[in-house]
Amino acid sequence: MEIEFFGVRGSIATAGPDTLRYGGNTSCVSVRAGGRELIFDAGTGLLPAGNRIRPGQRVELFLSHLHWDHIQGFPFFRPGYIPGTDVVIHAVAHEGEYFKPVHDVLSDQMRPPTFPVGLEVMGGNLHFVDVPQNTRVDLGEVEVRHAAVDHPNGCFSYRVDCGGRSVVYATDLEHGESVDPALCELARNADILIYDAMYTPEEYEGEVGPSKRGWGHSTFEAGADLADAAGVKQLILFHHDPSHDDEFMDGLRERAAKRRPGTDVARQGMILRP
Ligand SMILES: [Zn+2]
Ligand SMILES: [Zn+2]
Repeated sequence: MEIEFFGVRGSIATAGPDTLRYGGNTSCVSVRAGGRELIFDAGTGLLPAGNRIRPGQRVELFLSHLHWDHIQGFPFFRPGYIPGTDVVIHAVAHEGEYFKPVHDVLSDQMRPPTFPVGLEVMGGNLHFVDVPQNTRVDLGEVEVRHAAVDHPNGCFSYRVDCGGRSVVYATDLEHGESVDPALCELARNADILIYDAMYTPEEYEGEVGPSKRGWGHSTFEAGADLADAAGVKQLILFHHDPSHDDEFMDGLRERAAKRRPGTDVARQGMILRP
């Protein structure tokens, strides 16, 4: 299993000299396993992720939810334009107030006057799958499961298992007073937990700026609590706040590794082989 980070930033892309080392693209992580190419989320990191897909290579794209920073790269996903290339777009269907089929959401995104051309210009074989909640997606040797998490308009964390290796992609979620039992079960004994640590505990509690309670994101401390409870091997912090520059991220990385040894911060271009 090989995990590669193409976008690690939350909310909005942050290109610039102060974010060069950790990276400015929004959420996009590829997982290569069992001969399959899986990509989690379609933030602006989807552009470089797509550029390394070979024509004809099948891609399984999983969306955690449909906020801008997780779908904005989709119209620029080159494999989607290559005739004969299969791109399967999976998103979990839920019963929330704002549920819409994933096809309709991506199609609405590509429409004048905010986008010049429609989804129909993408000439690849696009397959849209509204995954029924609490079901498993089987892709040969690869198994993908999910769990609902607490985030405005709904969001899902995913777990990939293949050949005894596992990674959990848990972004855009807010922790509660105690560890979420469903997420803990999903992350049970995982090799790697990629976790939304957008805010420091001080930012979250409102000791620095306004309180971030109810904004749908989490902290490295809550991530470490979850990783401890679930017996995760390595915690990787993800969905960095746009205001956190490289220097700030260095400090966060140090603090998090003190709280839970081995913890690291996701950087654009980082590759993990659990
Ligand atoms: Zn986000
Ligand atoms: Zn979100």
